[in-house]
Amino acid sequence: MPISQMEEKFPAAYADFVKVCGTLEEHYRDMQDMEFTVENGKLYMLQCRSGKRTAQAALKIACDLVDEGMISEEQAVLMIEPRNLDTLLHPQFDAAALKAATPIGRGLGASPGAACGKIVFSAEDAKAWAARKEKVVLVRLETSPEDIEGMKAAQGVLTVRGGMTSHAAVVARGMGECCVSGCGDIVMDEENKRFTLGGKEFHEGDAISLDGSTGNIYDGIIPTVDATIAGEFGRIMGWADKYRTNADTPADAARAVELGAQGIGLTRTEHMFFDADRIAAFREMICSDTLEERVAALAKIEPMQRADFEGIYEAMGDRPVTIRFLDPPLHEFVPTDEADIEALAKAQGKSVERIKSIIASLHEFNPMMGHRGCRLAVTYPEIAEMQTRAVIKAALAVRARHPEWDIRPEIMIPLVGEVKELKYVKDVVVKVADELIAAAGSPMKYLVGTMIEIPRAALTADAIATEAEFFSFGTNDLTQMTFGFSRDDAGKFLGAYYDRKIYESDPFARLDQAGVGKLVEMACRLGRQTRPDLHLGICGEHGGDPSSVEFCHKVGLDYVSCSPFRVPIARLAAAQAAIKEKNA
Ligand code: PEP
Ligand code: MG
Repeated sequence: MPISQMEEKFPAAYADFVKVCGTLEEHYRDMQDMEFTVENGKLYMLQCRSGKRTAQAALKIACDLVDEGMISEEQAVLMIEPRNLDTLLHPQFDAAALKAATPIGRGLGASPGAACGKIVFSAEDAKAWAARKEKVVLVRLETSPEDIEGMKAAQGVLTVRGGMTSHAAVVARGMGECCVSGCGDIVMDEENKRFTLGGKEFHEGDAISLDGSTGNIYDGIIPTVDATIAGEFGRIMGWADKYRTNADTPADAARAVELGAQGIGLTRTEHMFFDADRIAAFREMICSDTLEERVAALAKIEPMQRADFEGIYEAMGDRPVTIRFLDPPLHEFVPTDEADIEALAKAQGKSVERIKSIIASLHEFNPMMGHRGCRLAVTYPEIAEMQTRAVIKAALAVRARHPEWDIRPEIMIPLVGEVKELKYVKDVVVKVADELIAAAGSPMKYLVGTMIEIPRAALTADAIATEAEFFSFGTNDLTQMTFGFSRDDAGKFLGAYYDRKIYESDPFARLDQAGVGKLVEMACRLGRQTRPDLHLGICGEHGGDPSSVEFCHKVGLDYVSCSPFRVPIARLAAAQAAIKEKNA
């Protein structure tokens, strides 16, 4: 019987019920789930508890309670579970259809949201099928920069290998696209476009559905419903504050601002080369034999970088933007396809054999510990020179268009472990930047800082701070190097660690406060000993994880940075940490 009929049938009991509801809600200051019975016209209350609610309902309830004077704005902020906001920002499965479905396998919930579509095995197929208006899910052993366009065209991405900070996971999160990574149970046969999972063989064109939050994989299509940001979302977010973001392109930057970011804490410049027309120039740079060849390739790259930086500054106004210099393991960018190798050889006027031997020489046993980060700038300072020119010229150009903006470039040198290597790269940056600024005729301030992502940098943070003007904790690498296991491969055995209760959660998703956190805390203390006003932040994936954000607040970081779609979660978690501390 609908509750409206109760008023007609049992007016006295109904009047009592309304009164009791008011009393209970007044007492608990929250929406109640109440059980009652009416016997011989008399109302009996059986029990009550705070009602379960969807994310959308949670926002509405919190706002209503504030409007009714029942709770404060701070209490409203504390009432919302940050992780649940994901359901407002990404497509979800239709709830009824999901109930009827059973997963056939499970990987890591690497980027939230739900996706369904036909299986394709290559980025080219994803693009071609999407162009025919087919919804597709890209299934790969693992992804590389060559897959970016295909990832964009797909509804979701499923990989056999890779952890929470693998290429697929980080890039999908940046795009706000559903991704399940590291499903080791898949027996993959990419060449023949098929794989086996849960006892079934899947072929190109078969339907599959992914849940990027739980990591569940389903056979067939489970319909999805689009994300809808509720009207109350903005009000609650307005009550929360302090936040920062990771964004690699002008479009990312604009999205981050839309979602409430106050700045960009990490621009991964290598991500600017994932577009098909740009990767060619980047490969030419990698496969250069001489300084002249490299300088020629860099000259092609520079205007693209500069245009992107201008776009980012235009999108961000005078909000802070931290641009990180190149940090890719180079093997990620070299072609594997015969046709791509031939095209590169042609562009460079080299033989296919020569290009193949260069590619072979780039092979490293553990590329994540290899020739990347500032090590590239130490061996090839001309790369740092080019990036400095691109950043400073972009900043000068945008300032000329918007003299009211106080644009202050922040250049971040990655993977530093020794103050002298930071100084070496910083000297290259400063020389180029100072010359350009002097030639422009009006002063512009800029900062050169570093990422703390190698344990040795944390241990010697007092020395590093003599050169670094800011620190940003790269907790993806810091986690990998502190634990001594690879961020790409740890998924293979971490499952056993959870089963045996050795680790409670994935240290790449939730910051290991006892170990990695101790290094972070120590580096903050040592860094500020040298430079009391040292600006401190985090830009590893933990910047978007609520419990890690609370930890960052406790150790005194000034900001957290994460991918655009996680900004609201980080904003809310940061506000909750600040409110809890104030009320403690
Ligand atoms: C990190 O290591 O935490 C980081 C942000 O850099 P990347 O993930 O690009 O290595
Ligand atoms: Mg890193």
